[in-house]
Amino acid sequence: PGPPPEPDADLRGRTADGHPVALLANIGGAAELAGARVEGVGLFRTELLFQHHIDPPTKAEQVAAYAEVFAAMPGRQVIVRTLDAGSDKPLPFLGGHVEPNPALGLRGLRVARRHGDILRTQIAAIAAAARGSSARVAVMAPMVTTVAEAAQFAALCRDAGLPTVGVMIEVPAAALRSAQILQTVDFLSVGTNDLSQYAFAADRRSGELADLLDPWQPVLLSLIAQCAAAGAAVGRPVGVCGEAAADPAFAVVLAGLGVTSLSMSPPSVPAVRAALAAYTWDECRAAAQRALAAPDPASARAAVTHGRASDD
Ligand code: PEP
Ligand code: MG
Repeated sequence: PGPPPEPDADLRGRTADGHPVALLANIGGAAELAGARVEGVGLFRTELLFQHHIDPPTKAEQVAAYAEVFAAMPGRQVIVRTLDAGSDKPLPFLGGHVEPNPALGLRGLRVARRHGDILRTQIAAIAAAARGSSARVAVMAPMVTTVAEAAQFAALCRDAGLPTVGVMIEVPAAALRSAQILQTVDFLSVGTNDLSQYAFAADRRSGELADLLDPWQPVLLSLIAQCAAAGAAVGRPVGVCGEAAADPAFAVVLAGLGVTSLSMSPPSVPAVRAALAAYTWDECRAAAQRALAAPDPASARAAVTHGRASDD
């Protein structure tokens, strides 16, 4: 017999019995893909490229920046998120518009209500960069709240020649309508950072409210479960791209809820790949059901390792 295959030789994420869960990268630019062992990009935070720009980025400079990322992922999926401006990520070129509650104001896709031209230019730039590349390019919008917003965004992207369109689920209103939203878009990506913030009415940057923002809160799991079930019902992908996906035990629960991809910073991927490989699909699903039924985050966390068939 030859040497054993490298445990890491295959980039694909899967459970011990082969159920696939794609492992993707969260990036702000091409540099973060150097040496990354990922199946693709699940969240390209385009606002990070332009956060210090005084003037809106031109279409040409956007095409160049996006093309660089696509070139690093030949044949692989790259999900480009349109500008997520506002709140904790102000963009100078959008003007110094001051709001009393920025996290509840014009942020993410809502910025297009005032600056539709900037969204249209960005979508045209993504489409132009995609045409010259072999990457499987998809596009998604942040901070979508209603079915109508999702439908309008999808129409805009498809008209520009981008056929694969998704939206982020970051607002409870959208999670509760995920089935209807999936009638208008091809995939969903759950942003747990903001979904926690908005579900628990707790500023995501508040250390004092960390217990409320704990991703193991069973209510957050219920919202994610509803999205995953909506995706499974129509055979459309539902990923998670918030920071929580990088927690190996949480990744096992997400897989068990039926989430189809996990996106995280590239250095977190190996531990998540190893965790998934240690659980069968049935064990993931059982862990997810125990976590959902738990009364609080600590019990939900304990529920993952507790009660595994091999521990009985
Ligand atoms: C999220 O909200 O979980 C997310 C992935 O988006 P961001 O952290 O960029 O707001
Ligand atoms: Mg977010």
